[in-house]
Amino acid sequence: MDCLFCKIVGGSIPSNKLLETEDMLVFHDIQPAAPVHVLIIPKKHIASMNDVTEEDLPLIAEIHRIAQEAAQQLGVSESGYRLINNCGPDSGQAVHHLHYHLLGGAKLGALTG
Ligand code: ADP
Repeated sequence: MDCLFCKIVGGSIPSNKLLETEDMLVFHDIQPAAPVHVLIIPKKHIASMNDVTEEDLPLIAEIHRIAQEAAQQLGVSESGYRLINNCGPDSGQAVHHLHYHLLGGAKLGALTG
């Protein structure tokens, strides 16, 4: 499949991994938008939030669990962090494999819309 993040999951494209479980991968964003910026992805290819099905909901719960763990490891649990999913053209979603940005390590700007 011609999906960048599937290639990262498969190992044919390298990544700077923070955490890996049977179903999930957390790796550092190649163009960090904050001092802490990792991406949390399910290994399963799901194109976007619009494509999450009932059977995927345990993976969505797992994203929150692994976000807590990543925040702990990155030292931002107490200072705070933001978890963002971009879905579709207006959001700027560039990679069509479900992913959540975990951002922190500095005072983050207000959300814009
Ligand atoms: P946006 O680029 O507007 O943030 P997305 O929400 O689709 O759109 O985010 C894709 C993210 O993937 C970007 O933050 C980008 O820097 C990151 N990225 C792209 N290629 C790689 C890569 N090879 N390794 C790590 N992160 C990557």
